[in-house]
Amino acid sequence: MFKVSERLAALSPSETLAMSQKSNELKAQGIDVINLSVGEPDFNTPDHIKAAAKQAVDNNYSFYSPVPGFLELRKAICLKLKNENNLDFTPDQIVCSNGAKQAICNVLLTILNKDDEVIIPAPYWVSYPEMVKLGEGKSVFIYSDIENDFKISPEQLEKAITEKTKAIILCSPSNPTGSVYSKEELQGLAQVLAKHPQIIILSDEIYEHINYVGTHESIAQFEEIRDRVVVINGVSKGYAMTGWRIGWIAAPKWIASACGTLQGQYTSGACSVAQKAAEAAYTGNQSCVETMRAAFERRRNLVVELVRQIPGMKVSVPQGAFYVFPDCSAYLGKSFNGKVIENSADLAMFLLETAHVASVGGVAFGAPHCIRFSYATSEDNLKKAFERIQQALNKLQ
Ligand code: PMP
Ligand code: GLU
Repeated sequence: MFKVSERLAALSPSETLAMSQKSNELKAQGIDVINLSVGEPDFNTPDHIKAAAKQAVDNNYSFYSPVPGFLELRKAICLKLKNENNLDFTPDQIVCSNGAKQAICNVLLTILNKDDEVIIPAPYWVSYPEMVKLGEGKSVFIYSDIENDFKISPEQLEKAITEKTKAIILCSPSNPTGSVYSKEELQGLAQVLAKHPQIIILSDEIYEHINYVGTHESIAQFEEIRDRVVVINGVSKGYAMTGWRIGWIAAPKWIASACGTLQGQYTSGACSVAQKAAEAAYTGNQSCVETMRAAFERRRNLVVELVRQIPGMKVSVPQGAFYVFPDCSAYLGKSFNGKVIENSADLAMFLLETAHVASVGGVAFGAPHCIRFSYATSEDNLKKAFERIQQALNKLQ
């Protein structure tokens, strides 16, 4: 008799979180599952950040915080944007939220009207199209493949723009592909966007600090579009703080203010203790960031070798984030015990059941012929996982 709203009925559950949950359920049954599904650092939050949170508890940071976040944190974020990205923002342009996830959703709900188009380069992070649906917008995908390093060109972008285009969501370093746009590549996209002043540019830079090619480049650096770029970032990935749930936007004032209104009616300010921890992350010693980045780079090198040893898998070398996204078409259409592996979601399920390795099929990322493995785990785990994957794939006919 009761039905969820049409808005909810149209929404798919997050595949990354679903695969991780399945893996945890199997683990709880005593099965030795290696979880390469969800993307989160396996490191503990650095000690000085934890100490700041403990101090915040003792100092009674137990009250509501201002909706956009404590001024000290927003100032620290402005300083980070200046020092690391050479971008000028003021605290009234920053809104802190429950993770970058809420930050992105806030912006989309703030700017979209029904049927507005949002350009999303594919492969994309699973949640973007679902958030666009929540905002009653329409996703317009621009497809890229392993041959072009999973990056879109200015020509493709130009073609995808219509008079209904309201926004574009860029993600560099990318989840799920690990691709990183160079300054020149971003400039090419910025030049196209400069010709279309109605388009708001969401730049998801949550993997900024996990970069193997050198300095991070933000599309917000280009003067001709700067006043309509929303930078999205947070502490989840770079500081190993996924569970603390602090993300933020640096945005034009009208967007920041509207996100504050939305958030004020919806969730209020983010957790006050977690905000103090995030402030310590940005103002404290940064060597932890480099230590973790270097570990991810070693694992990247290892995992690319391991995937290359699997016959038929094609892999691009990720330049950032902590995912490999090989093309697994060679295994699609094969079968095991009479069951056909139709797409990469089936392959991920087969690997979970047979190899006890959790991954995420590319279907959820708009690339059904690819599969995502997160390498945010130990080198031993990675070696063991790919040995098992190899053995399982050998069973396919
Ligand atoms: N953007 C991308 C591309 C991500 O991979 C994630 C990871 N969940 C997020 C945003 C959201 O991060 P957070 O944990 O800060 O919500
Ligand atoms: N961003 C991570 C992932 O893609 C975390 C899970 C999620 O929030 O989707 O696996």
